[in-house]
Amino acid sequence: MTKKLLIVCETLDNSLITPVQELAAFAASCSISSDETTVMIAGQDVSAAVPKAAAAGIDVMTVEHEALRYYNPPALAGSVIEVCRRIGASRICFSHTMQSCAAAVIVANELDCAIVTGVERAGENNGVIEFARSAYNGKMLEKTMFGSGDGFVCTVQSGSFASDPAAPNATGNIRKFDYDAVSEKFIPLGITAADESAISLNEADVIVAAGRGVGKEENLAVIYETAKLFSNSAVGASRIVCDNGWLPYGRQVGMTGKTVSPRLYMACGISGAQQHLVGMKNSQFIVAINSDPHANIFSTAHVGVADDLNLFLPVFIEKCRGIE
Ligand SMILES: Cc1cc2nc3c(=O)[nH]c(=O)nc-3n(C[C@H](O)[C@H](O)[C@H](O)COP(=O)(O)OP(=O)(O)OC[C@H]3O[C@@H](n4cnc5c(N)ncnc54)[C@H](O)[C@@H]3O)c2cc1C
Repeated sequence: MTKKLLIVCETLDNSLITPVQELAAFAASCSISSDETTVMIAGQDVSAAVPKAAAAGIDVMTVEHEALRYYNPPALAGSVIEVCRRIGASRICFSHTMQSCAAAVIVANELDCAIVTGVERAGENNGVIEFARSAYNGKMLEKTMFGSGDGFVCTVQSGSFASDPAAPNATGNIRKFDYDAVSEKFIPLGITAADESAISLNEADVIVAAGRGVGKEENLAVIYETAKLFSNSAVGASRIVCDNGWLPYGRQVGMTGKTVSPRLYMACGISGAQQHLVGMKNSQFIVAINSDPHANIFSTAHVGVADDLNLFLPVFIEKCRGIE
């Protein structure tokens, strides 16, 4: 296979969810030209997504199948493998979503090439491509290099590459790929809507977000009390808090949750994993409370409190009530 790059775009219920322009910027940062690149859009009916993808000025290949309408990593992987074989691509780039990560592993295994997930930086020097990603909750940077002839599969962290404004009216060629070989091993049972009864995270001026450092569900009381200090406030969460069932997934901030930019974001007991940061780093003012003075969240926060949140927040609440 050649060094051609395939950018894989996901849709969910026929809406494009992959930031194509960001992935195009990623390809450019590796000195991979748009001539060597194809954008693939997979879904049940991708007609509405095509213009957005084609605006990156790169050739587009559409793949439509009923099985590609909702989360289905084996179906997505199967279609990517077939497209790679058809166009001769040996470098495959996904965005770093749940589905794409799961599909990327299957693709790398099938094509027998290396995989790097969560790429945040990329560059090229004398034919050597270098990827970097955060390790140990952002405390270290890990680098991986590929030679000029190497194939690879990678997933790119959203928000890491500035969107390349495509030339006005830029449009790549659009081709359709017939795909029918879907495995029946994975059958989605349905989609459950998130609980949106509380003030929406996107409408709140202040978000007080809880992380695993809260310790247990009962300790969320202090997070709610803190949120009540502010008008138009909402409680948010890291993914682990939602995975633990302490808060519903509608409250999750981050890559696979909501992207928010409130006037004030208070991160309580949140380490600052990249997947959380991409969802809140554009908040106007960020306060982090974490008992680990080296926690990565402090590199993004405007104000950091290195303390036990269960000790600090009750005092903070009391002091704030005192000045009301
Ligand atoms: C594909 C993928 C998508 C993901 N999407 C998301 C997403 O959308 N959102 C998201 O949040 N995560 C997401 N994650 C998970 C992410 O990688 C982290 O695992 C998660 O954000 C960590 O949550 P946390 O900070 O609450 O927990 P931890 O990383 O365990 O951090 C807990 C922090 O609490 C601190 N702490 C402990 N006790 C106290 C105390 N008493 N007082 C104060 N501080 C204390 C600790 O020092 C630590 O820093 C995703 C991961 C993957 C692989």
